Amino acid sequence: MDNLKRVLSGGVSAHVGKKVLMSGWAQTIRAHAKVMFIDLRDHKGITQLVFTGEIMQQASQLTVESVVSIVGEVVKRPESLTNPNVISGTVEVRVESLTIESLASNLPLPLNDLTVKEETRLKYRYLDLRSERMAYNLRMRHQMNQFLRNYLSNRDFTEVETPYISKSTPEGARDYLVPARIDPGKFYALPQSPQQYKQLLMVAGIERYFQIVRCFRDEDSRIDRQPEFSQLDVEISFTSQEEVLSLIEEMYKEMVKTNFPEKVLTFTEFPRITYADSMKKYGTDRPDLRKDISNEDELAFAFIVDFPLFEWKAGDKRWGAVHHPFTAPTLEWQAKFEKDPAHALAQQYDLALNGVEVAGGSIRIHQPEIQERVFAFLGHDKTEIQRNFGHLLEAFSYGVPPHGGFASGLDRLISVLLRQTSIREVIAFPKSGDGRDLMMDSPSAVDSHQLLELGLKLVIDDIPSPKTKKSK
Ligand code: ASP
Repeated sequence: MDNLKRVLSGGVSAHVGKKVLMSGWAQTIRAHAKVMFIDLRDHKGITQLVFTGEIMQQASQLTVESVVSIVGEVVKRPESLTNPNVISGTVEVRVESLTIESLASNLPLPLNDLTVKEETRLKYRYLDLRSERMAYNLRMRHQMNQFLRNYLSNRDFTEVETPYISKSTPEGARDYLVPARIDPGKFYALPQSPQQYKQLLMVAGIERYFQIVRCFRDEDSRIDRQPEFSQLDVEISFTSQEEVLSLIEEMYKEMVKTNFPEKVLTFTEFPRITYADSMKKYGTDRPDLRKDISNEDELAFAFIVDFPLFEWKAGDKRWGAVHHPFTAPTLEWQAKFEKDPAHALAQQYDLALNGVEVAGGSIRIHQPEIQERVFAFLGHDKTEIQRNFGHLLEAFSYGVPPHGGFASGLDRLISVLLRQTSIREVIAFPKSGDGRDLMMDSPSAVDSHQLLELGLKLVIDDIPSPKTKKSK
């Protein structure tokens, strides 16, 4: 076997009359008295293997989903027996030698079966991912990411990685905290987004930044939310709202054309709807503007613009930022947003696709005095501002270009493009609806010495157990 190069299902039909080495999973086994057929699956598809004679005895030990390598001769199938649904359907391989790489036990779930309970699929995710559908979803996601990376790289953007072990950056959600062993009693936070880092990269003169990045928000999971999710994150110096919107529009039009050519755009130019109009007309800031909801390949992108700067948080009895506190008021409101906060407008924009928010961003405040006024208006006192945002304000005092950008939720975007009902279908290892990793069994307890090292003592008896909460 050693001197033969492995051939995959996608290429085997080019080897008629030749000996090939193939490896993969025994997806189905059909044994008859004098002949045995195995559908061998590799990452390119399926090939029919034929066993006759002595080798049948060895093959009879095989169980479904066992991993095998074989050497055999590729033969053309008679016209009447070709299978157009299979990539190698014009040929089959007559097996001469078989190596059983590993025998599979009985699978805990059938593959390619969507009626299986989602909890079971998540517990055995590595088996669930063997299905053609999930493998396709991951491949398409990869192609989308690849397109976006190339598109931006070709337009002079630099991908820069920013830290995951970081400091709290307010995006309106709860932080995941990481206890600091080096400083017991203190914590890192996992970033809710790289917002401050990307703005600091603008101070650093990078000018055109992007990153495909993970963000962490400790919120209850939903169909379109996960505790960790991926964004295409972009920031540009010396830019305008107009430039950012046209970058998003051109990039996504080109991506659809390249990776999803069967899709039809409802609007060849993405409409721009003010937040006020959208709320009035559709009752939402992410309207579904498809002409025909039953048309599976229709994509209705639309920008929502002119968002309010602040919203009243009735529960906390205070004003909060609609986007985040780094968002610039419109020029008209810069001098007076405190006077009429309910009507102040922001240089903020969102992109909706078929009723889902798939991107959002803003032009940022780059004047330290306006930024300080916004923090103060949001109720932060001077020491708090210094403690939480001193680094940003100081950075802005050393020469900061005007800048703006956006982030696009890639899990949501690809799940709309692939018409999946949940973003869990486009994430390799998602958390369950109640935020657990059922495969790794996490969150889980840690050793007491780990806690000690971190200077932590559990007081769980004093806090309500989240286990009593109903899972979604
Ligand atoms: N950081 C923002 C978010 O995660 C996006 C942005 O303003 O660029 O929503």
